[in-house]
Amino acid sequence: MKLFNTLTQSLETFTPIDNTVRIYVCGVTPYDTTHLGHAFTYITFDTLIRYLEYKGYTVKYVQNVTDIDDDVLRKARELGTTWDELGKRETERFLRDMRTLNLRMPDVYAKATEEIPGIIAITKKLLEEGYAYESEGCVFFSVKADPEFGVMARAIGLNNYEAMLEVANERGNFPDDRRKRDPLDFVLWQAQAPGEPAWESPWGPGRPGWHIECSAMSMHYLGEQIDIHGGGFDLAFPHHTCEIAQSEHYTGKAPFSRFWMHSGMLFQDGEKMSKSLGNLTLVSNLLKEHSPDTIRLVLQSHHYRYPWECTQADLRDAAAAITLFERVRALVGRNAEGEDLELRQRFERYMENDLNSPDTIQLLRQAAESAITREDLNSGAEILRLTGVLGLCV
Ligand SMILES: [Zn+2]
Repeated sequence: MKLFNTLTQSLETFTPIDNTVRIYVCGVTPYDTTHLGHAFTYITFDTLIRYLEYKGYTVKYVQNVTDIDDDVLRKARELGTTWDELGKRETERFLRDMRTLNLRMPDVYAKATEEIPGIIAITKKLLEEGYAYESEGCVFFSVKADPEFGVMARAIGLNNYEAMLEVANERGNFPDDRRKRDPLDFVLWQAQAPGEPAWESPWGPGRPGWHIECSAMSMHYLGEQIDIHGGGFDLAFPHHTCEIAQSEHYTGKAPFSRFWMHSGMLFQDGEKMSKSLGNLTLVSNLLKEHSPDTIRLVLQSHHYRYPWECTQADLRDAAAAITLFERVRALVGRNAEGEDLELRQRFERYMENDLNSPDTIQLLRQAAESAITREDLNSGAEILRLTGVLGLCV
């Protein structure tokens, strides 16, 4: 199977470290409702995991939830609730939406607040080795102390310090924090601010930075080196760039992850769908008018790496495909024993070319039309088996 590795910007043959494929996908910060962009990311990895299992691999899948962070604290204050109540409620809503879309639940669903010892251990070692420094109860990673910092950033075209700083600032960096030695340094441990929750640490009470939690959880549950680390494309920098720096200097082993996979961003009315712009298509709203299978299929009908905008026409087309597959089910009935090896081979060829689910779905639609016309029960049974591999119509 070939997968596109963001780090090398090339299609590479996927071979896991051993027969268990270790996958870590960055999860949500539970302060707002699940939108279609989240669903696109998680369905991408769900499709990959289902395919790997179909090919006989065992998959261990870890996803995190950033249950403490600036956004959670701010939103909780706005709503007059507590950060942990808000986090619990939004996490439940997210998981309910994901289950409705027939996503596999991760083997481990890890919370940042339950990983404090691991986070402290990594931070301590980075301090000892000179990659981090303490400042007024905070600990920062020093980008200047790491000559390799930014490998992932350069891979995606952020070729110099200024380019990295500009994007980091757009994505939540505080360049003017006077406690930092360099504007691009990022926080590993954040000192407690008045009124904020805190955990004990060697540097005083505080809470973990965002990037460090994913390094700690990935290593805790999957080991020091893993097969695939994934997330939305906007996580490649700074989040994944920072994860690589802190993880590889902590373990002395590279690569932290053999493959880095990123899903494309979703657009709405020509602009990137984002919480800050408020132009979100909520999964819960879509589910009022469309079946879970339709939403799943519309997402799988676009290649995971590219940005796109979901239109009403896309949704109608997806619903037509689901109707077609349901007609195949009606044709085949309970007798789902037949096989179509040629169709199966073509399905695998598409899927193994960087998870080309759009062409796979086209293939299955054409096969469905033909099976219905010819009343071909063998092909029909194979179509149902393969749509099942995609998590559709099951
Ligand atoms: Zn992460």
